[in-house]
Amino acid sequence: MKILISDPIDDKAVKELRNYGELLENGNEAEAEVIIVRSKTKVDKDYIDRAKNLKLVIRAGIGLDNIDVEYCKKKGIIVENTPEASTIAVAELVFAHMLSIARNIVCSTNTMKECKWEKKNLTGFELHGKTLGIIGLGRIGREVANRAEAFGMKILAFDPFVTNSDYKLVELQDLLQQSDIITLHVPLTEQTKNMIDENAFGSMKKGIVIINAARGGIIDENELMKNLENGKVSFVGLDVYEKEPPMDSPLLKLDNVALTPHIGAQTVEAKKRIGKSIVEKIKLFKNESLLRM
Ligand code: NAD
Repeated sequence: MKILISDPIDDKAVKELRNYGELLENGNEAEAEVIIVRSKTKVDKDYIDRAKNLKLVIRAGIGLDNIDVEYCKKKGIIVENTPEASTIAVAELVFAHMLSIARNIVCSTNTMKECKWEKKNLTGFELHGKTLGIIGLGRIGREVANRAEAFGMKILAFDPFVTNSDYKLVELQDLLQQSDIITLHVPLTEQTKNMIDENAFGSMKKGIVIINAARGGIIDENELMKNLENGKVSFVGLDVYEKEPPMDSPLLKLDNVALTPHIGAQTVEAKKRIGKSIVEKIKLFKNESLLRM
């Protein structure tokens, strides 16, 4: 079996994969039967047409928005991902952003490195008692809700596909109007693209804090920029961007923006889990292929 690991994965998994087939260098997709990608490689129509021997695409992670799944289906190519592996890592990153924003950690660090003791300007706020609006109550949304409960937050969730939950499900409009902090946990789809647009910002409380560790493009970045500048949004924590890396984005220049470079799943533990899950999928695929022979 010829395997192309197009984007980096856990070293131990790479070693183990050598037991199941030959590992190809990048650029050799034409020969590959299995391709392993994260979010960087775009498995679009052109790529799939070039990869003439392709039978299986494994997305190391969750989001399939960099893969033309419909076209793969049409060509009989199986598409798999490792959805559970990064849930905890992303949920914890959401809290890293929330707490860092609430207690001015980035500003504190920067000013202390300039030898300033800005104590009086660094009054923060508590998460306790705040209303957290969770958009998308799937795996990550639920883990965020569990942790928010421990922090004493009130939780509202919007997810039209969830009918039964321990958390209060509301309409999107109510969530936008009532939340002090909003966190996004939906996939990027036709329906969720620019879901947080001019109208959505218009419905939010003044001073809202927003966290997006789901996908760039769910928030309209032009509107976000306007609402950060006019004070409607007091702070945003972003892990994902419309264009990645977003180095020419004006968002990078604002003080009320906390940024991480799409590191939601970048923990030692999540990377190991993802690697393990990939090896298991390849093992299964190889066994099934042998059975079919
Ligand atoms: P999931 O499929 O378990 O949950 C997604 C939830 O969104 C589902 O409950 C679904 O019903 C809901 N949903 C779908 N369309 C909706 C809509 N229009 N309105 C409201 N809710 C809607 O997925 P998950 O594991 O919780 O992951 C969520 C997203 O997080 C992924 O799609 C991915 O884009 C993102 N993610 C980011 C990172 C990162 O590195 N920052 C890592 C992993 C996942």
